Order: sequence, then structure tokens, then C-alpha cells
Amino acid sequence: MPKTLTEILVAGRWRRGGGEPFDTVDPATGEVLATVHAASAEEVDEAALAAARAAVDPAWRDLLPHQRARLLYRIAELTEEAADELAATQTADTGKTLTETRALALSAAGTFRYTAAALETAEEALTPSRGAYVTMSVHEPIGVVGAINPWNSPVASDAQKIAPALAAGNAVLLKPAAWTPLVSLALGRLITRALTELGLPTALLSVLPGSGRVVGDAVVRHPLVGRIGFTGGTKTGRSIAAIAAQKLIPASLELGGKSPTIVRADADLEQALAGVMFGIFSSSGQSCIAGSRLFVAREIHDEFVRELVTRVGKLRVGPGTAPDTQVGPLVHAEHRDSVAAYVDLARSEGAEVLCGGAAPEGTGYGQGAYYLPTVLTGLPNSSRTCQEEIFGPVLVTLPYDDEDDLVRQANDSVYGLACGIWTRDHRAAWRLARRIDAGTVWINTYKQFSASTPFSGRKDSGLGTEKGRDAIRAYQRQKSLYWGISDTPLPWAN
Ligand code: NAD
Repeated sequence: MPKTLTEILVAGRWRRGGGEPFDTVDPATGEVLATVHAASAEEVDEAALAAARAAVDPAWRDLLPHQRARLLYRIAELTEEAADELAATQTADTGKTLTETRALALSAAGTFRYTAAALETAEEALTPSRGAYVTMSVHEPIGVVGAINPWNSPVASDAQKIAPALAAGNAVLLKPAAWTPLVSLALGRLITRALTELGLPTALLSVLPGSGRVVGDAVVRHPLVGRIGFTGGTKTGRSIAAIAAQKLIPASLELGGKSPTIVRADADLEQALAGVMFGIFSSSGQSCIAGSRLFVAREIHDEFVRELVTRVGKLRVGPGTAPDTQVGPLVHAEHRDSVAAYVDLARSEGAEVLCGGAAPEGTGYGQGAYYLPTVLTGLPNSSRTCQEEIFGPVLVTLPYDDEDDLVRQANDSVYGLACGIWTRDHRAAWRLARRIDAGTVWINTYKQFSASTPFSGRKDSGLGTEKGRDAIRAYQRQKSLYWGISDTPLPWAN
């Protein structure tokens, strides 16, 4: 791994971090890829002070929206050009397949490009006047914002926060997950290059790897940080929200999920089988929106599940770099062990393991953090296995009797992130889509994303929205202006 990827970006300068060194590991082999020195709490402070200066530097502050958009277009171009490199780095660091990491790199480029276009076309509002004045509402940057991301799709999550934050006119402190800092650092290099080319302050972005406890916490608590964009676990999200509440700053929280996938008896079963497998086993199930609870109409449940299990058994498990791999290793051996512990819990709860339920055996898996795609059945929706987020390749099947029973079970979860519905009946699809308490519903498709469509969670799955045109506004503050147009003094005057 080149040394350029192990230096961190503090206040516009690349250097060895002042915090503890930590190894980042290739989960396909267990080998150390690189040793990165974390940022120290002092460096977070240094980055925040420099970011605050950069945010008000006239070279940045005075840019008109279409001029600021040029930066985002340039980042999009550089990201697209570097897509293969970014994909290789992310596959090495996360274990994901190259097909997926390439798509994520291109999606990051697409996010920058879409956000640039949204910025150029965003309008300020003249509000209906209720007196002798013209009223308008304008949007201004917050200043310095923190972006804290998990390890599962770093380059895409980074773009989802950095693009609207920069478009809105802010400076950004990015805190990648400790297990996967490399692709965020690589993206940081590209953004620094674009800033330099356009003569803008490089301190507009810092990339500060390290632990959540030290670096993440320092970012959230820093007095100059005026907004937090967080993606990660619900418990962490709650603790960040508590600090944000004390500081009276906004925080958007994209959190966990335990999403239901529904197969009605009238579904196109070929499509449903492929969609269910993709929904849970792509990214090895390490996806907030993974369709991890499978509800199947009771009259087809056993037959559908039998066919599903046959096909799941044929999924190709292997390193993310092999062109035919469908299911790569999990991100880290520790995480693999946590997934395995959940399957043990399911067994103790009385689950029948229909396939998987173990690490794969055989040559080629070596010290990799692999776990077989697993299908469980025989548990009630109230079991811990059905209620807690496993974040791995583990699917539980549940039969349902009628629509009310289905909706009751599907909504009986603390989470409300996503849902999949497989049916040929468009009326039933509409009814279900409106009755399920989730931020995103896919009908006869699953896990498809577009930068232009807002994404948010309900209940313990989060607060606030990412993506879509309004994402830029979420990184700004509104200001109202009243322009008096009367020649007559206000009646209060003598
Ligand atoms: P995590 O909550 O442990 O960590 C997420 C990030 O927060 C990491 O960068 C971590 O270092 C940092 N962090 C941890 N403690 C912190 C603290 N006290 N203060 C500040 N920062 C802190 O989550 P994870 O294990 O990295 O990721 C998996 C979770 O992310 C799953 O629950 C998954 O569902 C969720 N996720 C949600 C979405 C979404 O869009 N809703 C997308 C991807 C992942």
C-alpha cells in the first residue's frame, strides 16, 4: 500500500497523524495492508480552526453558486478517472467485490455531479409579502461541519456528506471508520487536488481517521463544528444526538435497520428469488438496508424457501478481487465473529439453520473473515434474531397469513429503514408501500439507489435526510430579509 494512503489530512496538509497507530487489514487474507497513525484530539482542534478560517476566506465565501459548483464538477471528474484505483483500495480495505466498489466509486462521482447541478439550479424564495415590504428567504453556510461514517460503503457515504456540505459553502471534517480509512484518504487526495487547481483553501477538507471514542468524539464536541452528518449504529447515533442537543446544533442520523422483504403469492417468483438474495447477500449483508427479514405468504412459504435455499447454496463465496465472487468476506474477523455469535443465538432461540451457519471450509479461504450465506427459519418475529441488526449474510424467513398480519409483523421492529415488496398486484403494492413504516420502499426491485431520491430512516433508523435536491439546504441556515418599500415612516414614529 503506497505511503501516500497512510498519511492523514489535517488542515489542508498531509502528514503522519499524531495519534495512536492502527493497522488496517485485508479481510480476504487477514494481512495488514497499512499502518495509519490516527489523528490526535489536538489535530482535530487544529483542523477545526483552519476549517473555520477557510470557510470565511473570501476566495471561498464569495463564490457564487455556479462558481462553487465548478469545484464539485472537478471532484466528480477526478473521482470518475480514479474509479478503478478507488475500487481496488476499497476492495482491499473492506473485502467487497470489485464490481460493487467500482459502482460505489462511480456513484460517488455521480453524487458530486448531481449536487453541482442542484447547486447551480437551486432557487431562493421571495415569500408573499404581508405589508409594505418585500420578504425573502436566503440560505447561508453553517461554517464547519463534521461528517462521520461507518465502514460498509465508505466512498459513497463520504460523497453523500462532503458534496452537499461543500456545495452549501462549508468546510468539512471527515471522520472515516477505524477499520476502513484508506478509500476516504484516497478521496481526500482527489479533493485536495481539485481545491489546489482552483486556487481554493485546502483546509476546506480534513480527513481524520481514528477511533470514534477519541477522534469522532472530538469532532462532535468541537465548539466550531456547527452540524454533524452521521451514518452508523443507532447506539452511537443516540450518543451523538445527545451532544448535538447540548450544543444546539443540527445532526442528521442515518442508522441501523432490520428491513422486511415481502413475497406475496402473486409475485413473479424468479424475480423475487433473485431480489431476495441480492437484498440480503450482496455486500455480505453488511448493508443498513439489507432485507434481513423475509416474509412469505404462508401458502407458498415452504416451496419458495426450499428453492431459495438451493440457490443460496450456489452463491459463489470468495475474495472480492475474483471476478466471479458474489459474496466477499466480512469487513473484519471481529465482525465475522459477531455474526457467528448471532447465528449461535438463533440456534439457542430454536432456529432451524437451512443453509450456511458456519465459515466456509476449503483452500482459498485461509485467514479471511468469511461467513457462508445463511438462511434461518422457525423463529417468531419477536425473537432477538428477528429484532436485532446482525449486519451480515443472515436471512430469517417468516410466513404470514394475511395483509394485516403481515403489516403488524413487518412494522413490529424498532427500525424503519427500508422494505421490499414482490407482487404482480399493483393495488396491493400501493397499499403495502403506504402501510409499512419505512423511509424507502422498493417494489419489484431492491437496493437500487439514485442521488436524486431522498434517503432517510424512521424510528431507530434515523433522523434527517440525505441525497436529493434538499441535501444542500440541510447544510445551510436560513435567513429572512425584509425590504421596506414604503416612503411613509412606521406608524410608531413621532
Ligand atoms: P458505529 O456506530 O460503530 O460507527 C460509525 C462511525 O462513528 C465510525 O466512524 C466510528 O468510529 C464513529 N463513532 C463511534 N463512536 C463514536 C462516538 N462516540 N462519537 C463520534 N463518533 C463515533 O457503526 P459501524 O459499526 O461503523 O457501522 C455499522 C452501522 O452503520 C450499522 O448499524 C448500519 O446499519 C449503519 N449504517 C447505516 C446507514 C444508513 O444510511 N442508515 C448506512 C450504512 C451503515
